[in-house]
Amino acid sequence: MKVNYICSRCHRRFAVNTFAYKCQCGGAFELEKIPPKLPLGRLKSRANSIWRYREVLPIIKDENIVTLGEGMTPLVEERIFDKEVLLKLDYLFPSGSYKDRGASVLVSKIKELGIKTVVGDSSGNAGAAMAAYCARAGITCEIYCPESASEGKLVQISLYGAKLNKIPGSREDTAKVIQEKAKEVFYASHNWNPFFTEGTKTVFYEICEQLNWEVPDSIIMPAGYGSIILGIALAGRELKDMGVINNLPKLVAVQTEAIPPIYEAFRKGETKVTPLAQGRHTYAEGIACLNPIRGEQILEVLRETDGEVIKVSEEEIAEGINILAQKGIYVEPTSAVVVGALRKSLKIKEGKTNVVILTGSGLKATDKILRIFGREFAAKEQLKRSSLQKIDSPK
Ligand SMILES: [Zn+2]
Repeated sequence: MKVNYICSRCHRRFAVNTFAYKCQCGGAFELEKIPPKLPLGRLKSRANSIWRYREVLPIIKDENIVTLGEGMTPLVEERIFDKEVLLKLDYLFPSGSYKDRGASVLVSKIKELGIKTVVGDSSGNAGAAMAAYCARAGITCEIYCPESASEGKLVQISLYGAKLNKIPGSREDTAKVIQEKAKEVFYASHNWNPFFTEGTKTVFYEICEQLNWEVPDSIIMPAGYGSIILGIALAGRELKDMGVINNLPKLVAVQTEAIPPIYEAFRKGETKVTPLAQGRHTYAEGIACLNPIRGEQILEVLRETDGEVIKVSEEEIAEGINILAQKGIYVEPTSAVVVGALRKSLKIKEGKTNVVILTGSGLKATDKILRIFGREFAAKEQLKRSSLQKIDSPK
């Protein structure tokens, strides 16, 4: 598949081997490509991974594909707040988050371009995914993360063999540091580089295939930089062009009360997202994004699909972790924001097909989850010990 970059703002074209990660005008790159076709009848016999959609993934030679068998995650029925939902277990990936979708495709492209060294920045999960796939491909990788990122994610990145740099301050402070680095080394950015979105789009291919190529009524997901929304929008356009589907589901994006830039722009009817100067602390580190660089596109697709943006409190995040865990599902705080949205959203209706995307494993954020529930755990333990003492001590 022959492709090139095109600036989303001024429409200037670039070869995909450029080391520039955005246009001189500041616009983000899109991929310009021949509309792909997918042989639906042949999919059944293929591997259960994102690469079953090989024809729509823009890697030229099969030998460059870097894969760990990622994708085709389960879609399971559940009932939450009296609403029937289908949970897309996208935390079941080799590195423990859905970011492996994007990393598999982006690292494959980096290998195809013959690039041997890359840098990336991340709140944690994308960094871990990039480090894992770079390790698999033998590509040298350096990752910048906020120093406050979950210990589990940071340990993962180091053990995969990437050089880890912990940056004090917010997620945006990390993004600023990497701008300098990106002048010397290939910047493998999961937010700027459109090959990453080519991977994240596979979540919508999977959901539609799992529903026998029926479009669900709504999809609910966390939103920071909006990579899932953008992936669904891309897959939706392709599937419509191929004549497989006719419409997109209502997209419900979930943010936190601590950092809600997309929520604010959507509520005010704005076409651009105004970056926030600062945010409050949130346990949902994966969506602690003050400046979603593709904000315009995110707002456009949310409105096109008659979607909605919901914001949830830290208490609702804790409640979400708890409710899901009681159902055998252990996710990180960022993933758990969707539960609060199930209660608040007016777009999620009973009797409809509502898909909830769960993005990251709880095992990655044990330190954060302990901080949220620490006191409660300690109280239960104390209670247990005191009742044991009562039984042990002779009358
Ligand atoms: Zn431009």
